[in-house]
Amino acid sequence: MTKQSKTSSMHIKRKLIIHPEELTGAFVDRLVSLGTDTVGIHPTGGEGAKDSLSRLVDLFENAEFRETLDYAARSGLKIEYELHAGGYLMPRELFDIHPEYFRMNEDGERVADFNFCVSNDEALELVADRAALLTERLYRSEPRYHLWLDDKKDAQCLCEKCRKLTPSDKQLIVMNKAVKKIRKRQPTAALSYLAYFECINPPSMIQPEDGIFLEYAPFEKYTAKGEGADALIENERKMLGKLIDCFGKEESEILEYWYDNSLLSDWKYPPRKFTPNGAKISSEIAEYEALSPYCISSFACFLGKDYEALYGEADLSDFAK
Ligand SMILES: [Zn+2]
Repeated sequence: MTKQSKTSSMHIKRKLIIHPEELTGAFVDRLVSLGTDTVGIHPTGGEGAKDSLSRLVDLFENAEFRETLDYAARSGLKIEYELHAGGYLMPRELFDIHPEYFRMNEDGERVADFNFCVSNDEALELVADRAALLTERLYRSEPRYHLWLDDKKDAQCLCEKCRKLTPSDKQLIVMNKAVKKIRKRQPTAALSYLAYFECINPPSMIQPEDGIFLEYAPFEKYTAKGEGADALIENERKMLGKLIDCFGKEESEILEYWYDNSLLSDWKYPPRKFTPNGAKISSEIAEYEALSPYCISSFACFLGKDYEALYGEADLSDFAK
């Protein structure tokens, strides 16, 4: 590596992302010793994401949790929150009076299970207002937000208007509206577009507003199985360049699963023993660094104190700067 490329790669931020209950002073110390810039707090995704986000918001009232975040900040770590927020931002209890706010499923019925209708202006307005309020509640957060839609494939609105849009366009419509609301009170705020699942293809009809940045999460690489898996993984790999063309690289973020022991443990306790593939992680970090994104991050869930009680400290050394 030349001196110049080494210097520029040092500017690329590193972030590890853990569950809120895994944040301890000892884990903060480990992140600092690795040279990590940022800790990401991620309430559990999946179908219960709305409830786990509500629990996180409640945790901000907990003095001990706030003190651990204070300690992280005093130790020099930035704090961000990575949230599946679709179901939280559109309150399900509105379904009785405003079913038109909710998604239409493939049977042509409005349902209040996941996400919402992005072609309904009132629904979008409400979601964007709630997104702006939520960002102000995220304790000590950097003005760099990750308010993702629900963690579910094929949970889009298929109403007459929405079905003309790709999943990526639908997501970007929501994020564009939300970032404009957020920026009214936080002019430098940024909000991610999560390239993941069916949103791995760049949006085609909608352009990102100022403040939207790319967050690229190659999940298929770890989870695609059976017939068609290779094609999905290859498409996901190829899309990174096209996504950077669409969103720009200056603020782009890579969200990897190198240390995601929750994935390896099938998102069920107890955590399984985790052995990172150091050579693969190092070579992939180098490939990403060559693209000069803003940040290279990885989930590191299920490696906190419960894990350590069973197996001792997991080896995170290949993520060190
Ligand atoms: Zn719709």
